[in-house]
Amino acid sequence: MGVWLEGKPLAEKIRAGVKEEVDFFRQKTNRVPGLTGVLVGENPASQSYLRMKEKACQSLGINGRILSLPADAPRARLKGLIDGLNADDGVDAILVQLPLPKGFDAQEAISWIDPAKDVDGIHPQNLGLLLQNQPCLQACTPLGCLELIKSTGQGIEGKNAVIIGRSLIVGKPLAAMLVNENATVTTCHSKTKDLAGTAARADILVAAMGRPGFVGPEFVKPGAVVIDVGSNAVQDKAAVRALFGEDVKRLKEIDDKGYTWVGDVQPGVIDRAGWLTPSPGGVGPLTIAMLMKNTLQAFKMRKNLSMP
Ligand code: NAP
Repeated sequence: MGVWLEGKPLAEKIRAGVKEEVDFFRQKTNRVPGLTGVLVGENPASQSYLRMKEKACQSLGINGRILSLPADAPRARLKGLIDGLNADDGVDAILVQLPLPKGFDAQEAISWIDPAKDVDGIHPQNLGLLLQNQPCLQACTPLGCLELIKSTGQGIEGKNAVIIGRSLIVGKPLAAMLVNENATVTTCHSKTKDLAGTAARADILVAAMGRPGFVGPEFVKPGAVVIDVGSNAVQDKAAVRALFGEDVKRLKEIDDKGYTWVGDVQPGVIDRAGWLTPSPGGVGPLTIAMLMKNTLQAFKMRKNLSMP
């Protein structure tokens, strides 16, 4: 039986470090980092993610705020808003919450962000620097995965890492980060043949597919570090029962809210893995902690500040 790799304690530690630096710079310079989240449309999951990020800012003394545009706003309005944030010296970090509504091109919108304020590290310039293993702002969720993997004390160098998923926000940047850490990396996707067999050779397995409970024990090498990035809203009680049995908390959530959150990895994998992150409660808290850390990093880089 493996160990549940909880995200909250690690995220707390990172947030405490960020708060200490924010307090220090507030006293020294009378300035605090500023993060602006941009919400286009009314996607409830995006609204709730941004609210959590805003709350995290408040708790650390970071100046966090959300600016909203309607889903039918013309593309030029989003461009104008981002241009304004780029020019605003009080804004150190800009986060355009994805996915964008139909009619918007996410990659185009990201390319409008000043790379020095691209707090999620997905501007083409930052992704290029990541590939070159040069200092840059890096994507928050993959950074969080890396922290979780490192916290097991298993080391990354020379390990076989398999990532299921190749999105620009998770799979691809994580692959680059793990290569930079000297792992041997395989990236899988929907066209991969023998997915389970490939995954089962991994010392480090990351599931970032958005498929509730897809990854079962047959995907997992005994003792592997398994990171479940998946975060899926599931409405079907039968599907939840099939994965978790009579999970009272999740089933009640479906009654109360109409859905519950489920990862990509089946909970039974804990019997085979060395470590497994829960979902929720694993990668999610780390993503927010790394967003706070990146906001501080963007602030320090832009204002040329460093800790003594
Ligand atoms: P995405 O853009 O939809 O990408 C999903 C990836 O999974 C794609 O590369 C896709 O392959 C691959 N995939 C899907 N079904 C597959 C299958 N049956 N076999 C093999 N590969 C398959 O998703 P994302 O934005 O990366 O997010 C992935 C999951 O992580 C979602 O559940 C999301 O909610 C969650 N997430 C969580 C956090 C957090 O902080 N906790 C942050 C970001 C994302 P193709 O490329 O071939 O289509």
